[in-house]
Amino acid sequence: MKIKKCRKCGGDNFIIQETILHEAALCLEDKELTVYKERTGGIEKIICKNCNTDYSEEDFSRINFR
Ligand SMILES: [Zn+2]
Repeated sequence: MKIKKCRKCGGDNFIIQETILHEAALCLEDKELTVYKERTGGIEKIICKNCNTDYSEEDFSRINFR
């Protein structure tokens, strides 16, 4: 059952929390770890901006990023 609004407070603003993965290389000389690529590891959770109720990706029919 897809939600039309927050089940608890009726709000329609949400925060999508994603995992960001950074690929990094270690330099033998100075031992510094340097990021060369950033990619998303997918949606971790979605919370109502108003009341912090947790939702998952499956609660929404579609999620649009722009
Ligand atoms: Zn809410």
